[in-house]
Amino acid sequence: MAELKVQSRSVADTHRWARRLARIVQPGDVLALKGDLGAGKTTFTQAFADELGVEAVVNSPTFTLIKEYHGRLMLYHMDLYRLEDEADIQAMGLDEYFYGDGVCVIEWPERLGPELPDDAITLEIGHVSADERSIRIVGRHGRGRERIKELATA
Ligand code: ADP
Ligand code: MG
Repeated sequence: MAELKVQSRSVADTHRWARRLARIVQPGDVLALKGDLGAGKTTFTQAFADELGVEAVVNSPTFTLIKEYHGRLMLYHMDLYRLEDEADIQAMGLDEYFYGDGVCVIEWPERLGPELPDDAITLEIGHVSADERSIRIVGRHGRGRERIKELATA
């Protein structure tokens, strides 16, 4: 397992980490963003998308589970807050996204249970104060772990 613990003291800090990650991700990478409502998952995704070259405005896909964006790589932004059950997960056809040529950023990845690839890059964003967040970036296996190592030396 590889991990990196960072402190974000502002939205700009969170944006910087998002951009760093966006510069090293490869086709097929999956980012799992964990954290309560208001933690900064979408804030992170916006800078990540921008750094990937996405020109469209990224917001929370409240009623759509997945939104697709064109950038240097395709970006699949999922917000699974409203995902209800196993049938919904099957209906999404996740493998096409996970094992395709794009990058997936998933808010509320907990909803996927074991369907989340074990080589995902996981960010655990914790609320410290109004403007402060703790961010633990973890890669347990394979490409996820590689990316954390690259990030640590980037
Ligand atoms: P989520 O998608 O996790 O529900 P959002 O990104 O939509 O959260 O909202 C995070 C909110 O917290 C935004 O209003 C943002 O401006 C604010 N915020 C304050 N400090 C930070 C920080 N250090 N990192 C990220 N967001 C922050
Ligand atoms: Mg959100």
